[in-house]
Amino acid sequence: MALLARDLLQSGEARAPFVRAKMIMPVNKARPARQIRQRALKRIVIARIAQQPQLGQHLLRRGLVLRHMHVIARAMDSAVSPLDEVHEKIAKAARIARRELDEITLIAVSKTHPAERIEPLLGQGHRVFGENRVQEAQQKWPALREAFPDAQLHLIGQLQSNKADDAVELFDAIHSLDRPSLLKALAKAMDKAGKQVPCFVQVNIGDEDQKGGCPIAELPAFLGAIRETDIPLGGLMCIPPADIEPAPFFAFLDKLARDNGINGLSMGMSSDYETAIMQGATHIRVGTALFGARG
Ligand SMILES: *Cc1c(COP(=O)(O)O)cnc(C)c1O
Repeated sequence: MALLARDLLQSGEARAPFVRAKMIMPVNKARPARQIRQRALKRIVIARIAQQPQLGQHLLRRGLVLRHMHVIARAMDSAVSPLDEVHEKIAKAARIARRELDEITLIAVSKTHPAERIEPLLGQGHRVFGENRVQEAQQKWPALREAFPDAQLHLIGQLQSNKADDAVELFDAIHSLDRPSLLKALAKAMDKAGKQVPCFVQVNIGDEDQKGGCPIAELPAFLGAIRETDIPLGGLMCIPPADIEPAPFFAFLDKLARDNGINGLSMGMSSDYETAIMQGATHIRVGTALFGARG
């Protein structure tokens, strides 16, 4: 057992907590699961395999997988990537909602993740990504875009008016237009750049004090102001209140969009994108389910 642990550590693919679990053994000598008392540790190990496909594959190759973990590692080995999994769930939700797949854009939210984590998704053919900070995107994306010129970048985070020029230059869509001062700055920036970037109006759908977004009561007037500019209106966007069933908020955003003659709906994140699709989302913003937890 000690040998195996050292082996794995040296391979650089195992992290200390994995090895400390002391649960790695050849498949053919695997003890029945009931003999394993450290259930909490078992869960950690499984979570680690799930988060690290290479580790799962490495263990599988070397026959170092417990019987009940075998299935997980095999799934990894047959190349079911997180992207495939998310696509499958999108397709299922769309089927239930009787919606066409091409109405739904998956935005892979790559914020905080380095280029090395983004490249595999690009390699799998995914092209639409989301970042929440202008500066971070400026550092990561020019090089990635050189390699993948058809990649599209959406800004999903709050935007300061003084960064409007940079945002217009870098992004293909902006999901956080939420106030008249920013509208003015973006209109000016787009005029200057000769580039029209579709904008989603972020709505403070739960009327939360501390949250960004246009207050619901001010939405009609704000949409009117946008329509007086050349800015293409991409749709409405929301982040529902935390720790409460999101479906009613998604449905409300859908109603606001219909009432105002708008088609685009940017809503749904890793924990609720299927619900959002059933409520009409056209753009889902998914980070954790594709890249794992942010550090
Ligand atoms: C980070 C972020 C997401 C993605 O969240 P996950 O839960 O990781 O999928 C979506 N939308 C916005 C506005 C975000 O900031």
